Amino acid sequence: MPAITAKLSFFSATFVLIVVTALAFVSYHPRREPVILTAPSDSFDGDRAFADLKSLVAFGPRPPGSQALDRTRQWITHQLQNAGVEIERDPFVAATPLGPIPMVNLVARIPGTGSSIVIVAGHYDTKRMASTFVGANDGGSSAAFLLELARVLVKNKHALTYWLVFFDGEEALKQWSATDGLYGSRHFVGKFASEGTLTQVRAVIVVDMIADAHLNIHRDVHSTPWLNDLVFTQARHLGYGRYFLYGGRQIEDDHMPFLERGLPAMDIIDLDYGPLNLHWHTRFDTVDRCSPTSLKIVGQVIQTTLQVLEADRITSTGNPQTIK
Ligand SMILES: [Zn+2]
Repeated sequence: MPAITAKLSFFSATFVLIVVTALAFVSYHPRREPVILTAPSDSFDGDRAFADLKSLVAFGPRPPGSQALDRTRQWITHQLQNAGVEIERDPFVAATPLGPIPMVNLVARIPGTGSSIVIVAGHYDTKRMASTFVGANDGGSSAAFLLELARVLVKNKHALTYWLVFFDGEEALKQWSATDGLYGSRHFVGKFASEGTLTQVRAVIVVDMIADAHLNIHRDVHSTPWLNDLVFTQARHLGYGRYFLYGGRQIEDDHMPFLERGLPAMDIIDLDYGPLNLHWHTRFDTVDRCSPTSLKIVGQVIQTTLQVLEADRITSTGNPQTIK
């Protein structure tokens, strides 16, 4: 419209310019995902976690007491040290149906400003099997997940103290029972109960088999209801409701020893791996059936859950208060 522009005086043109510029400043704010509360640089990186999963699988089958698991442990320790995370080895000898087997839990600690502890845990051993079983999802995904979460959490100072625990000996060596399986978590809970530290633990979140390219996490009915609610609500708010399903399953996993001690604990697990769960505990549990996106989804859900726990929006009875 050159005719109208020509009629504008120098002053009114300047005035319009100032108003437009001011409006541009007022309306500008940094781009932000509406539901993910962290800055992008502090976000869980699914690709980086997936690269770790591949590195873990490259060690081959990693059953308790094997050289491959020892090398895996050294590698995990290096990764954590490189990220500036304090790590402790907790060796013990497990009485198994195959005789005594030396095992080692790895405990990464990220001290917060307060003494309350939130534990995020998973296993890094793979099931001892006659066939070649590399456990990309079962054993690989949980360890890779914890490594990436450690890298993310160590970047900032938090109100909560985080313990990221890599359990050895989750898998049964012969036949799953109350005494065959969960060796690492049973040892861990027994040790910290006798030291009196467990009273500071506010919540325990266990992850297992979370990299399935077809992610279906069913609510586990053993898990503490308010903690389940918290995680599943975050998933829904992030738009991941279709991956976090309410159809209940009964899962026995590394959260059980904590529950038995009366601690709030839950298991995030996709025990729906391949058609009819056929990829579970078989040679089909390989990298190509896993996905960085699945790791990222679970990473974001847990990150936002931790942020809610940090914000202390939980009542003294442990129930979610203002979480919508
Ligand atoms: Zn397993």
